[in-house]
Amino acid sequence: ALTWGIVGASTIAREWIVDSIRKHPLGRVKAVTSSDLRRAEEFASQMNIADAYDSLASLLADREIQAVYISTKNDRHLSDALEAISAGKHVLCEKPLALEPSDAQTIVDAAQRRGVVLATNHHLRNMESHRAIKRLMDEGAVGVVNSARVFHAGSLPEGLKTWRLHEKGAGAGVIYDISVHNADLLRFYFGVNPLKITAIATTAGDGDREIEDSVMSVWEFPNNVLVQCHDSFVVPFGPRGVEVHGSKGSILGLDIMSQTPGGRVVLRTAEGDQEIPLVHKVAYDRSIVDFIAAIQGTGAPSATGDDGVWSLRLARAVARSAQIGQTVTVGKVQ
Ligand code: NDP
Repeated sequence: ALTWGIVGASTIAREWIVDSIRKHPLGRVKAVTSSDLRRAEEFASQMNIADAYDSLASLLADREIQAVYISTKNDRHLSDALEAISAGKHVLCEKPLALEPSDAQTIVDAAQRRGVVLATNHHLRNMESHRAIKRLMDEGAVGVVNSARVFHAGSLPEGLKTWRLHEKGAGAGVIYDISVHNADLLRFYFGVNPLKITAIATTAGDGDREIEDSVMSVWEFPNNVLVQCHDSFVVPFGPRGVEVHGSKGSILGLDIMSQTPGGRVVLRTAEGDQEIPLVHKVAYDRSIVDFIAAIQGTGAPSATGDDGVWSLRLARAVARSAQIGQTVTVGKVQ
């Protein structure tokens, strides 16, 4: 068995990750830690987990635990990951890996030095819908791709209208939350980083004024490919998906930006619309399977630590462009 500790009594751990770990033939969840012991105990009893702690050090002291899943608030990922790595645990960490790319790089370097596996929990690249889109792009189904649109504007469930809207220092805002996922998805689609990003951000909802809840951005990729992204917390009824446009057709992906498996992918060409058959699966299951394969030396994480550094670097480029009101050249973002 591969024994896990859950770092952070979070919604995502409760709704998805503990289940995905347990679905794996080797997956065993032994402990959870929270800054609040009562929350840890409640989580442990609801999720049928043996041990609850209010300090990460106590969880890491358990020698049976070989891997941790970190889903604390964004500002905690850096210290939690470094502590876990220094205890010799493999780390599956939530996005963004840190608040600054240089800190994310510090995590990657630490994992490499300690010889443990580090992965970033970017789920979109693990969804059957996005994998189908990537396949169509690679097969040339739409000819030469020249542009894409990502519409990733939704709303936060009531229970999540907390630190994301009100605690700047925790790594709040739509850019750390959503733009970082787009960045990973676009890197997955195109296999390269963008060259330039231009963005405008604003606060349209009820969150703190200095925390952006909406951002629109334009990304220039190599070979004259332009991408438009709309990310928001204040669009409860917007369709969420992507369009990929090429010289011979377009790929339309609808309702494929959520955590829940589902949605449609349609290929539109001169022959008309063709629905692409999808067998939906839970994206996080693949994160776990690939992470465990990496630990066993038989595979690689679906999104590595390096992927996490890059998605953060690009999200920071979005934020920087919005802040200075100018186009940002990605190579210059540290
Ligand atoms: P939550 O707000 O549910 O949990 C984050 C932390 O907030 C918890 O670790 C917990 O701290 C604290 N917390 C939870 N409930 C309460 C409460 N009632 N009162 C006070 N504090 C509380 O966040 P999410 O699960 O939405 O997100 C966690 C991380 O996962 C983020 O980094 C986010 O970016 C990422 N995420 C990734 C997704 C993906 O698809 N890859 C999807 C959703 C989130 P403590 O541990 O100290 O108890």
